[in-house]
Amino acid sequence: MAMIIAICIILPMSHNEWKKQWDHITKQLQLKLPSQTFDAWIYPLHTKMVENTIKIFGPSRFFLNGLETHCGKEIEQVVQDVLKANVHIQYQIDTDEDVPIESKKESTSKHIPSEIDGHIDPRFTFENFVIGPSNEFAYAACHAVAEQPGESYNPLYLHGGVGLGKTHLIHAIANQLRQTSGIKITYRTGERFTNELIKAIGNRSTDQFRKNYRKVDVLIVDDVQFIAGKVSTQEEFFHTFNALHEIHKQIILVSDRNPHDMSHLEERLCSRFNWGLVADIQRPNLETRLAILANKSALAGITLHQDVAYLLASRIDNNVRELEGALTRLTAYSHFTKKKIDVEMAKIVLHDQLNVTVDSITVDDIQKKVAEYYGIPIKEMRSAKRSRNLAFPRQVAMYISKKLTQLSLPQIGTQFGNRDHTTILYACRKLEKRCQNDLVFQDEVEQLLSNLR
Ligand code: ADP
Ligand code: MG
Repeated sequence: MAMIIAICIILPMSHNEWKKQWDHITKQLQLKLPSQTFDAWIYPLHTKMVENTIKIFGPSRFFLNGLETHCGKEIEQVVQDVLKANVHIQYQIDTDEDVPIESKKESTSKHIPSEIDGHIDPRFTFENFVIGPSNEFAYAACHAVAEQPGESYNPLYLHGGVGLGKTHLIHAIANQLRQTSGIKITYRTGERFTNELIKAIGNRSTDQFRKNYRKVDVLIVDDVQFIAGKVSTQEEFFHTFNALHEIHKQIILVSDRNPHDMSHLEERLCSRFNWGLVADIQRPNLETRLAILANKSALAGITLHQDVAYLLASRIDNNVRELEGALTRLTAYSHFTKKKIDVEMAKIVLHDQLNVTVDSITVDDIQKKVAEYYGIPIKEMRSAKRSRNLAFPRQVAMYISKKLTQLSLPQIGTQFGNRDHTTILYACRKLEKRCQNDLVFQDEVEQLLSNLR
C-alpha cells in the first residue's frame, strides 16, 4: 500500500514540475515543524503525482499512522498554501506499482523487514501467554501497544514480582511487531543500557550512543530498576526518553516495582514513567497456575495427570518460573527413568520445591500458628463468635488449611466448630481474591506459610 495525498489541481503537472513543487512544500514544512519531527517523518518521504492525485509513499502502516497523526494537518495546510488548490488527502503503504521508478531501485520487495537490536525469545508470544485475573490488564495493555505502537499508551510501564511474565509479555510485543513492516526495535535490559553507556563514556563515543538510541521506533527496557541511583545513566536515559517521546516513538519499560517505589529514581524521570500507562502483574491464582501448567506441558508434548498438576500448582504459588522449572525437572526425571509422572514421583523429585511433605501439617498446627500470629486465643478458632478481630484470623486459618492440607472442605469445616463446607469455601474464595489485590495481606500469608513449612 502507499500513502497518498490527492490534490485536485487545475493543470496537470509533469514529473519535474511536481518535484519542484514538492521541494517547495518540504521547505515550508521544515519551517513549521520541530526539526526532530521533520527529520523523522517528512525527510524520508517520496512522492509522485498521478493526474490530480499526489502520492506520498511510506514504508509501513506504523509509519503512515505516525505521519498522519503528527504531521497530517501541517502537510495539508502547506500543500494548499503552495498549490492554491482544492486539496484532498489520502494515506497508503508502498506497493511496487505505486513506487516511483527511481525508488524501485531501493526497494526490492514489498515487505521491509523489521530490525530488532537485542535478543528476543521467539517462544514468548501472546498466543503462549495464559491470561487470568492477575495479568489480564497487563496483557491487554501490551497487546494494544503491539497493535498501535506510539499511539495508545506511551510509555507503557509494566511492573510486578519476579517470574510473573513481564519479560514474556514485552518479548511478545516485539515478536508481533517484527512481523510488521519496517520497524526498528531496540531491546535492552537496564543493566546493558548502563554498561553500554559506561563504555561509550570511556571511548568518548556518547554521541554515537545517543544517535543509535534516537533512531528507533520502539525502545524496550527490561528491568529498568537497574538504572535507579546511577546518576549519569539516569540523565542519559532521561534525554533519550524525551527525544523519543517527543516524536511519538513507543517506549516500553519493565520493572520489579512501581515507579513511586523506585528509591533513588530522580523525580523528573519518575514522573515521566507515569505519563502513559502503568500496569501491574500480580501472582496468578490457582486456576491460572493450572492453566499455565497445562499450556507448558502441551508445549513440551507431555500430558500431566490432574493430580500432579494440582499438587504443583497448589504448592508452587508465587512464581511461574519456578512452576515451569518444576515441570522441566519432572519431565527430565521421567525421561531418564522411563517412568510415568505421578504424584509419588513429583513428591520425591520436587521435595525441596514443594516445601512440605503433603501429609505432615494438621489443621491444629495451622490454627495454633494463625492464632498466635494474630494474637487471639486458639479456642476462638472453633467458636461461633463473629466479631471481625476473631472471624478474620479464623478465615485465614481455613484458607491456609485448604492450601496446605489434602482435606476436603467438609473435613476442614468439622475442625472449625462444625462449620458448613460453604463457609470454608466462602473464606477461601474471599482470601484468595484479597491475596491478589492486597500486598500487605499477601506478605502476611507468605509469613504464615513459611512458618508452617
Ligand atoms: P519476569 O520477567 O516477570 O520475571 P518472565 O516473563 O521471565 O518473568 O516469566 C518467567 C517464565 O514464566 C517464562 O518462561 C514465562 O513464559 C512464564 N510465564 C509467566 N507467566 C506466564 C503466563 N501467564 N502464561 C505462560 N507463561 C508464563
Ligand atoms: Mg524479566
